[in-house]
Amino acid sequence: MQQVRCPTCDITFGVSVSFHKGKVDTGEEFFCPAGHSMHFRPTKAELELKVVGLEVRLAEWEEYAGRLSEFLATERERATKALLSAAGYKSQWMRVRGEKKMWQDRYWALKRGEG
Ligand SMILES: [Zn+2]
Repeated sequence: MQQVRCPTCDITFGVSVSFHKGKVDTGEEFFCPAGHSMHFRPTKAELELKVVGLEVRLAEWEEYAGRLSEFLATERERATKALLSAAGYKSQWMRVRGEKKMWQDRYWALKRGEG
């Protein structure tokens, strides 16, 4: 036996398990002992349709996540290369600046007659 509660008069009554399953699966109308009409929603078919829809959306999101992940990997690689290149330029510039200062010091030393 399966208990069912009427949403209209709040009476609880028993139906057979197979009757209950049939009404749940089909969404078919049935009546409480006081004659109120009721049905189960969503039906099994509606739920299955919803599951299929959700599976499709999940697949779409998974594909999107995959593409996003590829994009991020590419961007990370690009950013890493840019940083390495910038670090290379910086060290080059530091060396040039160091050489300039060395030549300036030498020039002033010569000027002062220390050379
Ligand atoms: Zn009722």
